[in-house]
Formats: sequence, C-alpha cells, structure tokens
Amino acid sequence: MKKAYLDNASTTQLHPEVIAEMTKILTEDYGNPSSTHSLGRNAKNILELSRKSIAKQINASAAEIIFTSCGTEGNNWIMRSAVKDLKITRIITSKIEHHAVLHTAIALQNEFEIQVDYVKIKPNGEVDLTHLVELLSEEKKTLVSLMHINNETGTILDIDRVSQICQEHRALFHSDTVQSIGKTKIDLQHTPVDFIVASAHKFHGPKGVGFAFVRKNSGLQPLFFGGEQEKGQRPGTEAIHQIAGMAKALELSCQNLESESQYIASLKDYAIERLKTDFPGFKINGEKTLYNLLNVVLPFDESKTAMILFHLDMKGIAVSRGSACQSGSIRPSHVLAEMLSDDDLKKPSLRISFSHFNTKEDVDLLIEGLKTI
Ligand code: PLP
Repeated sequence: MKKAYLDNASTTQLHPEVIAEMTKILTEDYGNPSSTHSLGRNAKNILELSRKSIAKQINASAAEIIFTSCGTEGNNWIMRSAVKDLKITRIITSKIEHHAVLHTAIALQNEFEIQVDYVKIKPNGEVDLTHLVELLSEEKKTLVSLMHINNETGTILDIDRVSQICQEHRALFHSDTVQSIGKTKIDLQHTPVDFIVASAHKFHGPKGVGFAFVRKNSGLQPLFFGGEQEKGQRPGTEAIHQIAGMAKALELSCQNLESESQYIASLKDYAIERLKTDFPGFKINGEKTLYNLLNVVLPFDESKTAMILFHLDMKGIAVSRGSACQSGSIRPSHVLAEMLSDDDLKKPSLRISFSHFNTKEDVDLLIEGLKTI
C-alpha cells in the first residue's frame, strides 16, 4: 500500500546523513565527554563542535546553547527558573500555546501564586499585540511567553516586534521556537529575545534531544542538580550521538532552507488547489501561516469528526487533528477553540504538515482518501 506521511509538525523522518553521523558516533565515539582519556576528549570535542555549529546557525554564541532532552524540558526549565530564581511575578502568555507552556504556566501559578495573563487571539489566529502592550502597561516583573510558529495552524508571531515591545517594557521574552528552528531564518543578534527552545525531531533530527538558547548573564538556575555538565546548568551525561545528530540536522536544514521551503510551499499551494476543486466549502484556519503547515475545516458533517483520522490511517495517510498528544481525542483543539465559530469548531478540522520528503503524490493520496469519507 502506498503511504503518505503528512504529519511533519508532529515529528519528522530522520535525514539519512543524520543517521550516518549518529551511527558513526554510536559505534566509534562512545566516550564520556567528562572523561580525561582520549575517548573522553574525543567525545568532548564532538560535543563542543556541535554546540558551535548550532550557535552559528542562529547567530548566537556557543556559551548560550544548553543541551536538553526535548522542547518540553526547555520550556519548563526557562519558565520555572524565571519565576523561582529571577523573581518573575507575572507570566503573559496566550491560550494557543503548546501544553508544554500552558500547563507549565498553570503549575507555576498554583505553586508560586504568580499572576498569569493571556493575551487575546484574533479570529485569524494572530496574537493581538495591542492587547499585549496594554497588559504590559501594568508594571510587574514579567515574563512574556509566546510561541513563534503555532504547531496546529502555522500562524507566525512577529518575534522581532514582540522582542522590541518586551524590551520597551523591561519584560523578559521567552519564545517556544520548536516549530520554527530549522524552518525559518533566526538571527539572535538581530532579534533580542531572551530565551528560545528547540527540539531536534521537528527538523529531521533524533527524538530525545533539544536545546535552549539562554542569553548571556540571564541569571537562570538549573532545573536538575548533579554533575558539572553544561556548566552545571543541565547536569547529566551528554547524549553525544543525539547532540551531534541534532547539529547535523540543523546544519542541513539551514543550508537547504531556501530551496526546501520553496518546494514545500509549492506542495502546500497544490494541496490548497486540490481542496478548492474537490471540497469547495473548505476553509483554511489561520492567516499568514508558515509554508509547511495547512490547517483546514472540511465541509463534512460533524458526525464524521471522530472517524476521519482512523479512516485516512486505514488508507496509509498520516495527518492529525491537532498536536500529536491530543490527536486521539475528539475534544476540539484548544487552539482552534480560540479562533473558530462554534459551528466550525464542530466540523472536522485537519492539520496537514509537509516536509521536503513529501511529493504531489502524497497530496493526491490524501485527496482521494478524503473523497471516500
Ligand atoms: N512546543 C511546540 C510548539 C511543539 O510543537 C512541541 C511538540 O509537539 C513541543 C513544544 C514539545 O516538544 P518535545 O516533543 O520535544 O518535548
């Protein structure tokens, strides 16, 4: 059976060059980077070259890159330490964030009795920056936590503008960039954001590894305690093969960004054209979305909502209804709930997310699959 993997916002296929790099390291470079013998020094060398390579891709300094296990860890660490150690008394976030941010904000609110404010979302999925400025006019020690690219709709936050607003109001700015690292150009000398996080499996790297960018002299303290790894900021023996695999994946993504993004955008345009022809009543959720993500309301009866993913899966087509952690649920997505009318919210929505491994045939397979529903 032909298969179509159109769920790249949930995770991505490993790049063959990444597999080769990781296999080599697993086989030959198994030293512990903290050991002083040559195998250890070799591993340490791989670790630091990976850090330099990642820093270069986002125009940061190597000392500002801290390796983590995933995006969720990075978000938890930054938000928790901002409250606990930097004495933040208010977090401003939005209701369309990933649960790694939303649930962390709520946990911190319960634990530290901080204030949590939610900036309004416009019906087109954009964050209302006028409301953000209004919220920031109340003087409090604040962390603003707003994601760069929304993982369900692909809507884009102007992080340059938000960084500037935060600087003007002396607020710290954390952006969950899990969906944008490797897919957009990020220049941290140009964009004065304080903290960002990444997860390798979103850009054709391995699962179980990510990094946080923590701007110099931030004062952030570790989440865990133990050894001296990552200058004590994130103790635990470094997963060298994962880290080097991530550095390779990011290097490839950044190197091919222009050509791959153009190609992926052409697939998205093709999908929109096919949907227009075959399902004329469909609607796109969100305006000004990233080239790789397409979230649509389908003109199907709401009784189809529960079975649509299952039906497509039986035909070898992998798509989702929202973030992977929620896609088994028929509850409406918390992101779409902020944007859609009650009627549209009941109808089936699909998140179609592309990578450069996809082809027009994948889109055709999806359209043919949808026709049989
Ligand atoms: N933030 C966003 C925007 C995501 O899309 C995801 C993954 O779905 C995460 C955070 C969590 O990343 P990880 O799976 O690496 O913990």
